[in-house]
Amino acid sequence: MNHVDVIIIGGGFAGVSAARKLYRAGKSFLILEARDRLGGRVYTKDIADGIPLDLGGQWIGPTQDRMYELVEEYGIETYPTYIKGKSVMDLNKKISTYTGLIPKVDPISLIYIDITIKRLNRMAQSIDTQAPWSHPKAAKWDAMTLSSYISKHVKTKKARSIMITAMETVLACAPEEVSLLHVLFYIRSGKDIDTLLNIENGAQQDRIRGGMQGVVEHMSVGFEDRILYNAAVKSIKQSESQCTVRTEDHTYYSSKVVVAIPPILAGRIQCDPPLSLDKRQVFQKIPMGIVVKCYAIYKQPFWRQAGFSGEVVTDEHSPYQTIFDNAAEDADYGMLMGFALADRATQLMRLSQLDRKALMIKTLERYFGAQSKDIWMYEDLCWAEEEFSQGCYTGYFPTGVWTRYKDALRTVEGNIHWAGTETATVWNGYIEGAVRSGERAAQEILTS
Ligand SMILES: Cc1cc2nc3c(=O)[nH]c(=O)nc-3n(C[C@H](O)[C@H](O)[C@H](O)COP(=O)(O)OP(=O)(O)OC[C@H]3O[C@@H](n4cnc5c(N)ncnc54)[C@H](O)[C@@H]3O)c2cc1C
Repeated sequence: MNHVDVIIIGGGFAGVSAARKLYRAGKSFLILEARDRLGGRVYTKDIADGIPLDLGGQWIGPTQDRMYELVEEYGIETYPTYIKGKSVMDLNKKISTYTGLIPKVDPISLIYIDITIKRLNRMAQSIDTQAPWSHPKAAKWDAMTLSSYISKHVKTKKARSIMITAMETVLACAPEEVSLLHVLFYIRSGKDIDTLLNIENGAQQDRIRGGMQGVVEHMSVGFEDRILYNAAVKSIKQSESQCTVRTEDHTYYSSKVVVAIPPILAGRIQCDPPLSLDKRQVFQKIPMGIVVKCYAIYKQPFWRQAGFSGEVVTDEHSPYQTIFDNAAEDADYGMLMGFALADRATQLMRLSQLDRKALMIKTLERYFGAQSKDIWMYEDLCWAEEEFSQGCYTGYFPTGVWTRYKDALRTVEGNIHWAGTETATVWNGYIEGAVRSGERAAQEILTS
């Protein structure tokens, strides 16, 4: 194929969603994917005995309508996250257990947490996700970090610790690093804080049988021959009628291009003529969060028999903000998954993998007892070390970026259209957002 209608850069959910829409509209296209697989920040690794391990994005939940439609269309089975039994809270090095949604903390702290969540939700509901910068208080909120907001409004140390852990789990960056306006936009784009945090009725509700990567592979059925792997794009040259896209070894031609990769990586593609100054600046201003996903795999889910759900919420004394039971209820093995996020991820990655494994076992022993030592396998992945991701879950906006650069991230530049979850206005940062962004970019091309 010498010339195609569209070249799509990136074979994550955004790129493949764009391709799927163009395929159905009868357009010719090529996906150029830097890795040797589809999925990008979604990666299911098969470990011993064919156990699927989701090392990247894994959950879907209510209001992620496109994801549920896709799963239904392809007849893919989902299962609920395991939540039966008591959960563990580790605060100030003291371990307690609780059932339901509300952890056991003093009533004053609980009131602060409740009021703060309600306030943030109320503020978020007033944000237009198409144009967060247009809010009357945008300048004030964009000049403030989430950390300064929490310090000002949450008065007890316990309540602050819980709020910080919760928000780090959602955002994968430290509250000092992120604009309050961005946090409000993010909350609104995923409905509300409760939806972002909850398992049942929230973003962590359902899993994909066989792993999340299977969904994107299903989506590509029919156009597998239009995907080129190990094809990292280095440059795009555009004239009025043609785009010339170069990888290390090859040159491809198209009428349009969809760039469906994280902003930090988009900024590394050399463009001729150069992109607008706003676009080049905004690519430099949106860093990626940092997450290490750590797995302890056991022959048996022994904690379930002891009445534990496997869920743990901790403060900064633990290497992980949260731990989940990450296997289906009917699995014949046990799997605990720890999320180390933001500063805790950075600290964890200073250790060797052997030491990270030892630390996970030691940590689990505190929560679930001596059987935690009988680990079968350990796996972890730090997404900040992935060349073609540079971090995760997503790019976040530090202070001043939304109000200065507005929608620069997704503005069409000549024949180049922009997708990727960072450009989404609904479920930004999530797989749902990636799918919607890809479909939006394809629609722009189909109607241009
Ligand atoms: C640990 C972790 C946990 C997460 N948990 C969840 C979750 O439970 N639920 C949820 O909804 N979301 C979750 N997310 C976020 C979700 O995975 C992402 O929002 C989504 O996958 C992003 O899709 P994308 O297509 O926009 O980008 P990506 O998945 O990053 O796709 C971009 C693709 O472009 C490729 N690429 C990069 N540079 C180039 C180049 N120069 N040339 C060609 N190709 C290139 C990359 O290899 C990649 O395949 C998680 C992410 C991680 C990493």
